[in-house]
Amino acid sequence: MTAHACITVDLDTLQCYRDIHGLNHDMPGHEGDPTYRVGVERMLELFDEYDVEATLFVIGRDTNVPLHQRKLKEADDAGHELGNHTYSHHYDLADRSREEQQSEIARGEGAIASVCGRRPVGFRTPGYNVTPRLVQMCASRGYHYDSSIFPCPPYWVAKRAIMAWQKLRGRPSRSAITPPKNLLAPITAYHPERERIWREDPTSEMPLEIPMCLVPGVRIPVIGTSLHLFGEAGFDWILPALERTYDRILNLEFHALDFIDASDAPDGNQLAAVQPDLRVGWPKKRALYSHVLERLSDSYQFSTMRDAVGVV
Ligand SMILES: [Zn+2]
Repeated sequence: MTAHACITVDLDTLQCYRDIHGLNHDMPGHEGDPTYRVGVERMLELFDEYDVEATLFVIGRDTNVPLHQRKLKEADDAGHELGNHTYSHHYDLADRSREEQQSEIARGEGAIASVCGRRPVGFRTPGYNVTPRLVQMCASRGYHYDSSIFPCPPYWVAKRAIMAWQKLRGRPSRSAITPPKNLLAPITAYHPERERIWREDPTSEMPLEIPMCLVPGVRIPVIGTSLHLFGEAGFDWILPALERTYDRILNLEFHALDFIDASDAPDGNQLAAVQPDLRVGWPKKRALYSHVLERLSDSYQFSTMRDAVGVV
């Protein structure tokens, strides 16, 4: 059986990070957001070098910016999959009304179809805050997979602490707390129960759930940002455990932000104060990602999530 490595990238613009950190912002103008203008450009070039067909989770509203739309078209032409990351990227989508949730999914879908002419078959909710109702909505719209579960207790605790701190400082985050039951979910791809999506039910008709990659046992995240904590040697050390655990689908999640550094954004230094991974320069990031992709290519086939779940 082929083991698939799905490189997935959430195309969150700097606007999303300003929302997390309670900073003010305007919508990007014609020059586009640095995550698209610089980040997506570098990402496409890197993936081309390593023959990676990736899955890009798109925020629908970005298709209204001509430069963003052009980059997405380029990505689609290069064989990457465009998945639905909702229309407006509301971190508290899970708490909003049924109508608003439906509309966020449907409008996100329409935006992607307007770029590539096909409806998406995969969904990722903003900020990992997924609920049974959101996945049920995707199921009834014919989605083949959801990739929103991040069953990582250390991340959950850190996020809660940071949000409480921001509230104390009078700069409340627009992020939201992930339902804690999701922390109980399996760490490898599974079919979830309809009402308790954190539990596996092999007979379920629900879309396949593909969680973010974690170091098994200790459940430390293996995502774009945490790769810097491991470094090249650390990644080599955990890789055998990843290969044993993720013998079907490994989901390595990046964000568009992982492909830029502070020098790429006009308010980069202000953002880097709260988003420290921006302080790592692009050449260093590129070297690390190249190493990771090279290692992964020894035992995995790079596939879009759509291909990995067997959708033709
Ligand atoms: Zn996002």
